Amino acid sequence: MTEKKSRVIAVPCSDYEPEKVYEAVRTGIRALGGLESFLRPEERVLVKPNLLKPAEADSAVTTHPSVLRAVLRLLKEYGCTSVRFGDSPGHDTGTHALERLGFRSDEPVFGACLAPMSEEVRVDFPEGMTEKEFWFAREVTEADAIINVCKMKTHAMMRVTGAVKNLFGLLCGTRKAREHLKFPNDGVFARMLVDIHRCVKPRLHIMDAVVAMEGNGPGAGTPKPMGLLLFSIDPVALDAVFCALIHMDPETVQTNVQGEAMGLGTWHAERIELLLATPGDDAYADPMPLDVFADTFGDPDFEVDRKKTDLLVRSLSVLARFSRRPVIHAERCIHCGICVSHCPVPGKALSFRNGKDHPPVYDRKKCIRCFCCQEMCPQKAITAGYWK
Ligand code: SF4
Ligand code: SF4
Repeated sequence: MTEKKSRVIAVPCSDYEPEKVYEAVRTGIRALGGLESFLRPEERVLVKPNLLKPAEADSAVTTHPSVLRAVLRLLKEYGCTSVRFGDSPGHDTGTHALERLGFRSDEPVFGACLAPMSEEVRVDFPEGMTEKEFWFAREVTEADAIINVCKMKTHAMMRVTGAVKNLFGLLCGTRKAREHLKFPNDGVFARMLVDIHRCVKPRLHIMDAVVAMEGNGPGAGTPKPMGLLLFSIDPVALDAVFCALIHMDPETVQTNVQGEAMGLGTWHAERIELLLATPGDDAYADPMPLDVFADTFGDPDFEVDRKKTDLLVRSLSVLARFSRRPVIHAERCIHCGICVSHCPVPGKALSFRNGKDHPPVYDRKKCIRCFCCQEMCPQKAITAGYWK
């Protein structure tokens, strides 16, 4: 019997011109079988973009508004009448992040309403392998179907953030800090992320890779045009295609490894069917070997942490000093304290120990390397590096 492969659709899209994006998103969803294969029009839908923090659309920090609007328009055209969209950022609110992208809380978009995602509700999950309950934003519990509209970005802790990582935003702001404390390395943290997927079972994953983020992601990296939109019902396969595009070993990404181990999907190229679709042409999507696709559309120079040493470091604590840690660049620091306030460690793993006239200082014994400080620094003053 032939093994069923995870299908990933790739649609070229050179920029964020709204009609172009709409056509590409429509084509990608069509190539996966159309919205009718994922949901019924009468179901309540929550669309979950990546809204890490309030940021300009062209900064590549968030899912681009053109992609989000295209998804909402397609849901409207399909006949969905109960659609909400939102995220719970680590810093500030989802509403502010959406306003920065041109949305308004009092103005529905193609009939869809903005979801504040600020009130949390407990959801029991007895089948959980890491957590037996999650505290999700209320809108998550009120949705029948979740559509994950993630962004292709680097991530200091997890190396990359794509489809699997994006659902962390279903937890409300402060809850995220507690999960970081409870799951302090990328392996266990990835397992918790996979459990979130197993709990809420999103129906569809769309990756905004028109302009990705490389370097100091997920909040302070450099926009990198990749010219693609990716679609799948398998978030691990989608992230594996992300890895292929940046010529990165998918096995170095814990969301892939744990995602496959916990039955969420596959990162193995031989179990992924990549189809290349042409915007506007619904009739045909062309199968393409993943390596050929990566050579044609990918970028081997994409700036990301490809080192394999962390795999060793995880098992040999004596080498932990060689793993990447947050480093503050004093010349860029404005001493705002946002990094300190976001550190989830009790008693804080960084503080203004030298006074407020100086940058905060790390406590290397306490730091769990969650990189929440790096994610939230508004000055891009924190990067992943090595402590002397
Ligand atoms: S958040 Fe950034 S700018 Fe603010 S104190 Fe921390 S390192 Fe400095
Ligand atoms: S100092 Fe930064 S990386 Fe270390 S635990 Fe605190 S927020 Fe996480």
